[in-house]
Amino acid sequence: MNAKPVDALRLDVAQLAAEGAELAGQWPLSELTRLADMHMAGDGPAAEVQWQVQGELRPVTGGAAEVWLHLQAQVELDLCCQRCLGPVHETVTIAKPLRFVSDEAQAAALDAEMEDDVLALERTLDLRELVEDELLLALPLVPRHAECPVPLPMPADDAVADEMANPFAALAQLKTRGSGQT
Ligand SMILES: [Zn+2]
Repeated sequence: MNAKPVDALRLDVAQLAAEGAELAGQWPLSELTRLADMHMAGDGPAAEVQWQVQGELRPVTGGAAEVWLHLQAQVELDLCCQRCLGPVHETVTIAKPLRFVSDEAQAAALDAEMEDDVLALERTLDLRELVEDELLLALPLVPRHAECPVPLPMPADDAVADEMANPFAALAQLKTRGSGQT
């Protein structure tokens, strides 16, 4: 087996599939900036994205073999709890087969009718960008603690909360008051 280094940012998916090869590695979370934006960095070790891909050629009777990439990735994130705004620890994982076809039109047509995702095969694939896209899609829509570690605001604070939630209403009140004096 030749040990030619493979650039995951310019991955030749067709070749990976033809060889049935497997690749794995990790990236510092800081290199995936859109995902890093979701992370509330604490004092712990810097987060890393673990990833693994395996290429596969699926033979098709009487046609060209299908190109598949089996993608797996995992990252530990501290997301912002939507209830207390504190960090909530989440392990985000993806594991999905992706099919690659020769052009965008074919990809769009197949993607609509297949359960698996279908992508157009570029000469090279930026695997890091793909992994980041997939992890972003896998994030919980509303991250929150099962039980928040800090006490939530008491009902008595509701009036303040309402005013904060609707600064325009407060502003409108001020305006009304102001015009009354002229
Ligand atoms: Zn919380």
